[in-house]
Amino acid sequence: MFALLAITACSPYRDIEDRWTVAREVCEPPTPFVRDDVHPDSYAPITEACRDQLAEDFGVAEQFDSMKVRAWVLEALFNLLGRDQGKVSTLEVDEYVREPFIDHMTEMAEALHTDDLGQLLYNFSAFHITLIIDDTSIDEGFRYVIADQTMLVNKTLEVEQETALPKGSGWATFVVHEASHAVVPGHVMCPDWGTRDCDTDWSGAYGYQAATAWRMYGFCDTEQDAYNCIHLRDEMENAEERILAD
Ligand SMILES: [Zn+2]
Repeated sequence: MFALLAITACSPYRDIEDRWTVAREVCEPPTPFVRDDVHPDSYAPITEACRDQLAEDFGVAEQFDSMKVRAWVLEALFNLLGRDQGKVSTLEVDEYVREPFIDHMTEMAEALHTDDLGQLLYNFSAFHITLIIDDTSIDEGFRYVIADQTMLVNKTLEVEQETALPKGSGWATFVVHEASHAVVPGHVMCPDWGTRDCDTDWSGAYGYQAATAWRMYGFCDTEQDAYNCIHLRDEMENAEERILAD
């Protein structure tokens, strides 16, 4: 018990704010969370009050070069807020989840007095991300700037295509990935691709992303929400491929 108290006392999450509960009250995400973007008429759009709340929690900039990118970012945050991910206490080492993620979430669960993994990951992400902006000067994709806790997004090419649909679930896993950069070792070179977006082991951002995608996929309704489930499965497998250790 003493060891546990000592860990909690030193935890950076000791004074963390629970934004999830407030945001859930404002946004009222549907249960079960189904949001098949192939049929956007089949669900209610995110309310203005909810968009404002999500924007406030993550510091989403008012103006993006492409406002479509901003809408997709809000869709991702709504997915992060709404999707069930089960309980921390039932997490066991598996193909897509390993000790570093389980240990970290268990520490956060202590600090926030909750066993709800979705609640923890929303709060974890909001805690480490204070600004989200689009920045077409970076390579296509997402990036995290540790010094000012900023998540950069360059997805204009992908988003502005005529037939493009929001990938709310898949992008939600990237929000967790980027937030985790505040606390995990940086990426290393991928031997197969020659680019610097792999991790040595499961303690990196891809370990967090794989675990998040795995949990969201586990609770995804593959009949009603097929579009998002496919994205979650893809992100889960893609993240795992980028972890060099078994
Ligand atoms: Zn990364």
